Amino acid sequence: MSSPTLRHVAVLGATGSIGGNTLDVIARHPERFRASVLTAHSNVAALAELCVRHRPDLAVIADAALEGELARRLATAGVRCDIASGHDAITAAVSGTLCDTVVAAIVGAAGLDSTLAAARTGKRLLLANKESIVMAGPLLLEALAAGDGDLIPVDSEHNAIFQCLPGGRPDLKGNGVRRLILTASGGPFRGRKRAELAGVTPEQACKHPNWVMGRKISVDSATLMNKGLEVIEAHHLFGATPDTIDVLVHPQSLVHSMVEYVDGSVLAQLGNPDMRTAIAHALAWPARVEAGVSPLDLATSAPLAFEQPDLGTFRCLALAFQALRAGGDAPAILNAANEVAVDAFLGGGLSFLGIADLVESVLAELPSQAVVDVQTLNERDRAAREAARRVLRNAC
Ligand code: NAD
Ligand code: MG
Repeated sequence: MSSPTLRHVAVLGATGSIGGNTLDVIARHPERFRASVLTAHSNVAALAELCVRHRPDLAVIADAALEGELARRLATAGVRCDIASGHDAITAAVSGTLCDTVVAAIVGAAGLDSTLAAARTGKRLLLANKESIVMAGPLLLEALAAGDGDLIPVDSEHNAIFQCLPGGRPDLKGNGVRRLILTASGGPFRGRKRAELAGVTPEQACKHPNWVMGRKISVDSATLMNKGLEVIEAHHLFGATPDTIDVLVHPQSLVHSMVEYVDGSVLAQLGNPDMRTAIAHALAWPARVEAGVSPLDLATSAPLAFEQPDLGTFRCLALAFQALRAGGDAPAILNAANEVAVDAFLGGGLSFLGIADLVESVLAELPSQAVVDVQTLNERDRAAREAARRVLRNAC
């Protein structure tokens, strides 16, 4: 048997939760994968440590003020790799020849430019940064078509659906697909009513029952905005209309999502809640590699349970469906308002229930417009953030 070709992987957001899981999988298969580019926002100590362990060709720190410190730390540790800094350096690294594979694991709209660059330059794009496809779905699909590369979803639900479909981005109707069913854990506040959520704290919101994740996505999981963003992500990734995407709460997080076919077959992908499964699948696809994930033992697992989401309590999910149906750049407005709201909540400046209120008022203030290009989209993103901050100031 011929040995697999070595993939050179740029891990964007290397110091984060997805970044760490990706590097864990990469380190298990040095004959298949090499972390050639590592990037981080400002955690220079963690980035330097990762460079010691993974010996990339290039390390990029987004906060340019920290480039000198990164250089000092790497010199002290005896690591010889190129160093760059700033937002544009990440995009340049993605577009260049140092990598053929890009793990887009920056959190939020900050990941848009690098995600688009990976698509445009035909890299294998492993998409975790859901905010970029929510913001710029049509532009990302255009860039992918122009670059002729692969997009393999890393978000566990979309990775599951990808595995349950015949391959690529198929014509759903032509392949007999009736519905995509996204599962949701329900987050730490599942079963609670609005009155019980008024005083919940960021620490409580970030305590996810099944997954250990970054703080932003943890809050999104608690509000169900994460599932809302994922509905929009599924619409773009698989060409599914809003009416053919359902959300089902499944507290055990063992069934990662399902595809229902017209003959009544429902295909599901199961596994323990560990992101390394989706990451390993996306890195090695169409091959399979060991991911370090313990085997699923259904006999000793809690019984699989399913229930409808409570859209009256978790309004963010309803707002995301509303934005998807409105079309145009409404999802980008929703995303920007949500990023400001989550930041404010984490910083103690907004209540948990205030997140949905803030998103709703920004959506009402900025009716949807057609998505034209990245520049216009970035302007709309800025306008939505300004509107959200104004609402926040007026509320204080
Ligand atoms: P995290 O907060 O743990 O890590 C975020 C990473 O992005 C860090 O390395 C940080 O340095 C980098 N970053 C942040 N702001 C940046 C900026 N302005 N410029 C450059 N880099 C920046 O987040 P995470 O949980 O790993 O999530 C990353 C992305 O993956 C998010 O879009 C999230 O929705 C998605 N995702 C995460 C999980 C999960 O299990 N954690 C699952 C599915 C999807
Ligand atoms: Mg997910």
